[in-house]
Amino acid sequence: MAKQFDVVVIGAGPGGYIAAIRAAQLGLSVACVDASSNEKGAPAPGGTCTNVGCIPSKALLQSSEYYEHAGHHFADHGIKVGSLGLDLAKLIARKDTVVKQNNDGILYLFKKNKVTFFHGTAAFTGQVEGGWAVKVSGKAEEELVAKHVIVATGSAPRALPNLPFDEKTVLSNDGALSIPSVPKRLGVIGAGVIGLELGSVWRRLGSEVTVLEGMPTFLPAADEQIAKEAHKALTKQGLKIELGVKVGDVKATTKTVTLKYADASGAEQSLVVDKLIVSIGRVPHTAGLNAEAVGLKLDERGFVEVDADCKTNLPNVWAVGDVVRGPMLAHKAEEEGVAVAERIVGQHGHVNFDTIPSVIYTSPEISWVGKNEQTLKAEGRAYKVGTFPFLANGRARALGDTTGMVKFLADAATDEILGVHIVGPQASELISECVVAMEFRAASEDIARICHAHPSLSEAVKEAALAVDKRALNF
Ligand SMILES: Cc1cc2nc3c(=O)[nH]c(=O)nc-3n(C[C@H](O)[C@H](O)[C@H](O)COP(=O)(O)OP(=O)(O)OC[C@H]3O[C@@H](n4cnc5c(N)ncnc54)[C@H](O)[C@@H]3O)c2cc1C
Repeated sequence: MAKQFDVVVIGAGPGGYIAAIRAAQLGLSVACVDASSNEKGAPAPGGTCTNVGCIPSKALLQSSEYYEHAGHHFADHGIKVGSLGLDLAKLIARKDTVVKQNNDGILYLFKKNKVTFFHGTAAFTGQVEGGWAVKVSGKAEEELVAKHVIVATGSAPRALPNLPFDEKTVLSNDGALSIPSVPKRLGVIGAGVIGLELGSVWRRLGSEVTVLEGMPTFLPAADEQIAKEAHKALTKQGLKIELGVKVGDVKATTKTVTLKYADASGAEQSLVVDKLIVSIGRVPHTAGLNAEAVGLKLDERGFVEVDADCKTNLPNVWAVGDVVRGPMLAHKAEEEGVAVAERIVGQHGHVNFDTIPSVIYTSPEISWVGKNEQTLKAEGRAYKVGTFPFLANGRARALGDTTGMVKFLADAATDEILGVHIVGPQASELISECVVAMEFRAASEDIARICHAHPSLSEAVKEAALAVDKRALNF
C-alpha cells in the first residue's frame, strides 16, 4: 500500500532538506528521500554541501590555516612553537566528524519537524490518483504518492573527456577532501572556487600546487580590481596559477599524472604531478529519477527545465538547487527550497537573484554581491566608486591580516548601492551587511551614516561607503 504525502522531496541537500522543513512548518505532510550513505552505509543527508562540498572544505580550510599560522605567523605575535607536526589522519578524521555532526543534525531536524525520511533512490513511476507515484529503492522498498514533488537531486563533478575520476590519482572534490598523505606535487585543473579552495588547503599543508586555468583572466565573474588583488595575494603565498592554458593529452598511472598543455603564449608545456584535482565545473544530476519516462523536461545541458517559480513542465512537480539553472550555491538552493514550499501553500515565495552573495573561502577571502565595475561599464551606467584598504583598518592590523580592500559601487545620480566587492579577512561575513543593504535598496550614504563597532573589520565597509563620497575618515 502506497504511503500518501502532500509533498515528496527527492534529495536532502540544502535545496531539498530545507524545502522539506519549510513545507512541514507550513502544515503539509512531507517525506524526503535521499540516496547518500556514509562509509558505514548509514544515511548521510545534506547532499554535496554537507558530505563533499561546503562543510568538509571549510573544515579543511580552517585546519590548514591554523597549521600555516602556527608555522609562519605565530612568531610575529611572539608565540614560539616547538617542532611543528602534521597529523593528517587526525585532520581528515576531524573533518569527517564535522560532516557527521551535520548529517545527524539534519536527521534531528527532520524528526523535530515531522518530516518522514526515506534512505534510498527515488524514481517517478507515473501519475496516479492523488498525485505522483514515486518508488524508493534502497534498504526498504517503498511506494509513495505525493500531491507535489520537489526535485532537488543536485549535481555531480564534471570529468575531463577520457579521464575518469579514480579518486586515487585523478580526483574530484570527493577524493580531494580525503587525500591520505600530502602529495609533493599537486595539479589542479580549473581556477574556480573549488580549485582555489582545495588548492589552498593542500598548499598550506605542504604541496607544491600548480593550477591550470583555460580562461585568460583570473576569476572573470569577480570585479577586475578585486580579482587582481586576490591573484597577487594567492600567487605570493606560493600557489602557481597559469591562465589561458589549453590542456591536451593527460596520462594517469597509479602514481603520477602527466599533463601536456599549451601555455598562454601557445608554447607546449608538460607537467608531472602526484595527484590531479579536476575542478572544471559540475553537471546536473538526474540519473535514476526516471525523468524521461514521465516526460520531465530537461534542457540541452541536462538541467531540469523550470520557470522563474521553479515549476517544471509537469503539474505539481517543482525543481530547485543545482539541478536547475542559476548559480550552483547552497544558499541559492535553500532560498529556492523555501520559496517553492511557500508557493505550494499559495504564498508568494521569492528569490532575488540580484542579491545572492558569492564567496571564495581562500585567504584572503573574496566575496561580492551585485554588479562589478566591468559590467557597469559595459552597460554604460554612470556610477561612483569608493574603496578602503584593510591596511588602514585597526582591527585588521591587530589581527595581522591587512591584505585587500572593500569596494563600493553606487549609482552616480541616486547613490543606490549597485555592488560591493571585498577581498580580505572575513569577507564571507562582511558581505552580509552589504546584501541586507542592497535588499533594502540602500544608498552608500546609508551605510556611511550607520554606527559600526570599533575596532572591527566592518568599519572597512563603512569607510568604503564613505569613500564613495570622497570622505573616508581613516585613509
Ligand atoms: C568542494 C565544494 C565546495 C563547495 N563550497 C560551497 C560553499 O562554500 N558555499 C556554497 O554556497 N556552495 C558550495 N558548494 C556548492 C554546493 O555544495 C551546492 O550548490 C549545493 O550542495 C547544492 O544543493 P542541492 O540541494 O541542489 O544538491 P546536492 O547538495 O547535490 O544534494 C542532492 C542530494 O540528492 C540526492 N539524490 C540525487 N538523486 C537522487 C534520487 N534519485 N533519489 C534520492 N536522492 C537523490 C543526492 O544523494 C544528494 O544527497 C561547494 C561544492 C563543492 C563540490
